[in-house]
Amino acid sequence: MFLEFFESKGHLAMKSFSLVPHNDNSLLLINSGMAPLKPYFTGQEIPPRRRVTTCQKCIRTGDIENIGKTARHGTFFEMLGNFSFGDYFKDEAIHWSWEFLTEVVGLEKDRLYPSVYLDDDEAFNIWNKEIGVPAEKIFRFGKEDNFWEHGAGPCGPCSEIYYDRGEKYGCGKPGCTVGCECDRYIEVWNNVFTQFENDGHGNYTELKQKNIDTGMGLERLAVVVQDVDSLFTVDTNKALLDEVCALAHTKYQVDHKKDISLRIIADHVKSCTFMISDGIMPSNEGRGYVLRRLIRRAARHGRLLGIEGRFMPELSKTVIELSKDGYPELEEKKAMILKVLAEEEEKFNKTIDQGLAILADMESEMSAKNETVLSGENAFKLYDTYGFPLDLTIEILEEKNLTVDEEGFQAAMKEQREKARKARKTTNYMGADVTVYQSIPAEITSKFVGYDRLQHESKIT
Ligand code: ATP
Ligand code: MG
Ligand code: MG
Ligand code: MG
Repeated sequence: MFLEFFESKGHLAMKSFSLVPHNDNSLLLINSGMAPLKPYFTGQEIPPRRRVTTCQKCIRTGDIENIGKTARHGTFFEMLGNFSFGDYFKDEAIHWSWEFLTEVVGLEKDRLYPSVYLDDDEAFNIWNKEIGVPAEKIFRFGKEDNFWEHGAGPCGPCSEIYYDRGEKYGCGKPGCTVGCECDRYIEVWNNVFTQFENDGHGNYTELKQKNIDTGMGLERLAVVVQDVDSLFTVDTNKALLDEVCALAHTKYQVDHKKDISLRIIADHVKSCTFMISDGIMPSNEGRGYVLRRLIRRAARHGRLLGIEGRFMPELSKTVIELSKDGYPELEEKKAMILKVLAEEEEKFNKTIDQGLAILADMESEMSAKNETVLSGENAFKLYDTYGFPLDLTIEILEEKNLTVDEEGFQAAMKEQREKARKARKTTNYMGADVTVYQSIPAEITSKFVGYDRLQHESKIT
């Protein structure tokens, strides 16, 4: 509906881009609809049309701590967006977002609350005078929520649209309104008006070419329309959550703690499935490490729920089934996705129980000594020997109000790297000079061919 609506307004509907940014070192993973379109905003590349609309797969690891706890955050979600590269501006963008929400989707006008940037009277007046939203229903928020900026470059104020899901979803505290941390007033859409250029020193000048960049979470809109508790119970995610419940022999919404683990597993398996389909492999750095962290975190929550053995490939099959119509690459890469998940999960399963037992011993030792901070050395031992990503250790301890000496962890890591560097021998066990291998140019890198084929084909000529 969204893509068709914006096509009817002259936009070109483009396919979702990969989760792996193209020619952009500033970003590990695509986290918004605008991210892969950046070259069109900066003028580096010419867009195929000045009006574009997309449904973009996104990963936001910055939200990882919210996952399972709030109703509205996933590490994976799809972002609907309409974009103008120097074409239409605020007026059209606001009118169209209102038209889409109230006429196409049919949301009740009374439940919608726009917000604008502090001094953006232009946007305020469009909402108030042209659309007719009463002034007391329009909120003015500061930089944190209503100004989009990423270092130097194009930036500008934004206008978010919140939806009141009703009392049953609220915290009930006095003063609970738009902007409250609870999930009653849920942000569904953000309209960004990129009208300034920041020179990197906080000096703003008006851009000649003004752009529109909007983003609406598809699952968030579904939460509102379907009137369900969270992202994980909308129709396209519910079958997955049900399956996690079945594996854990439990029901959803019986035990608050279990619910968090159930949602984390559903969320992470979905993220991992999509990441692998875009060619990301588990590793110890960069986006590969993000993938590894998500898989290991999900594995640990599986343990908390009493799930035994490997479970992620099974769940991933459901993710693929539920999403393959929109993302055919999932079905095409199915065998590879399942294999990568199975291998990584098994690798961690071999040490997770031992690691958890060692961590429990460390905790008892700490409590005997009345300490609340785990030493960097111990955290590093868990990482190095048992494959516990640092944030997993932090999370486990946090549940017991304990913390980790993170600086000490980094120091231990550095020390080990140095030792390894020094220990690198120049001869092998037969006395041959191995420095000759070190002179092989770094450009010769191995290319993973498993996306297209499962076995290496050797060619005899
Ligand atoms: P919030 O304040 O709720 O964290 P945000 O202001 O960080 O959201 P934006 O960066 O404005 O979100 O992204 C545009 C839209 O994308 C949001 O209005 C929301 O609908 C959706 N969105 C953002 N983060 C997530 C997420 N983690 N999971 C699902 N949808 C999201
Ligand atoms: Mg956010
Ligand atoms: Mg927000
Ligand atoms: Mg926002």
